[in-house]
Amino acid sequence: MQANIVVLPGDGIGPEITAVAVDVLRAVAARFGHSFTFSEHDIGGIAIDNHGEPLPASTLDACAKADAVLLGAVGGPKWSDPNAKVRPEQGLLAIRKALGLFANLRPVRTHPAALNASPIKPELLRDVDFIVVRELTGGIYFGDKTRDADSASDLCRYTTVEIERVLRSAFRLAQQRRGKLTSVDKANVLETSRLWRDIAARIGREEFPDVELEHQLVDSMAMHLISKPRAYDVIVTENMFGDILTDEASMLAGSLGLLPSASLGEEGKVGIFEPIHGSAPDIAGKGIANPYATILSAAMLLRHSLGLEAEATTIEAAVSAALDAGQFTADLAAQGQALSTQQAAQAVLAQLT
Ligand code: ATP
Ligand code: MG
Repeated sequence: MQANIVVLPGDGIGPEITAVAVDVLRAVAARFGHSFTFSEHDIGGIAIDNHGEPLPASTLDACAKADAVLLGAVGGPKWSDPNAKVRPEQGLLAIRKALGLFANLRPVRTHPAALNASPIKPELLRDVDFIVVRELTGGIYFGDKTRDADSASDLCRYTTVEIERVLRSAFRLAQQRRGKLTSVDKANVLETSRLWRDIAARIGREEFPDVELEHQLVDSMAMHLISKPRAYDVIVTENMFGDILTDEASMLAGSLGLLPSASLGEEGKVGIFEPIHGSAPDIAGKGIANPYATILSAAMLLRHSLGLEAEATTIEAAVSAALDAGQFTADLAAQGQALSTQQAAQAVLAQLT
């Protein structure tokens, strides 16, 4: 297969981790006989420096035409003046909006070799393997806001179309996995949640009778994520609940450096794949960042944008094997035995060739 992949390295450790993830994609292309072309564009702080804006039109244009986008991270102290007119993070929000990326997928999978790195008891964590699908472009974060002398308000609004499309993405994902979907809402209190629950029930009944659907209230879900994380396959929820639950869920895996993500729109449209961590300015330029989250994001890119399931699984297995062999960067390793970004990437590449 031929594919045109846009790489947006961004700021901080972004260039270091995307470079090795591209090496992994090249190795997979060589092994499976694909032809991938890569082109790099600016986003975030580097784009402010080079073009005066965090999302230059040339970057957006390249992404819209690409088959998939691999992103590093944006932001850093250089651009964090609170009075600045333009900020790196605006580039991310703008590109998600422009490309219509309404579903944010965050898989959480625990790895035997990293269980002790989580603050949660290892026996609860073994074999955890679920994906949270968070609605990304609606709800209270985007509703009208007001502020006067002694009050403030944020409107939470969802349309049927916005709820249906993200639920369908989640149902389809559940079909491809273990066939279980947990829809999270606050239907005992919120009208948007009652609409959400009604739509989930209807779509489940009419379009996905083969998927087992359960509804959970967000407060009890916050508890269950810690007390029985193995019980879940696909979890779908609205924007703010998803924001909070995905940060909570990230603690299960042991390090931010292990968690990939995908932001997807309608089927067949370009998606953006990136690690969930930020630009880690404290370690940028040192060559010690954990590249696994970005490499696993590249695997998601192959699966979700290019339909290359075997290739994606091959990368995931290679990362697992590297972790099994104790190939850790500093965030996971005991002091003094940590691999560099390059060495960790080599451990993955060695499994692929
Ligand atoms: P953002 O606001 O962009 O999400 P953040 O404030 O959440 O950023 P990160 O940049 O994610 O912060 O970094 C949080 C901490 O985790 C830092 O100490 C950073 O060094 C560490 N960290 C993040 N990513 C990695 C990685 N890939 N490898 C090693 N350490 C990392
Ligand atoms: Mg953060």
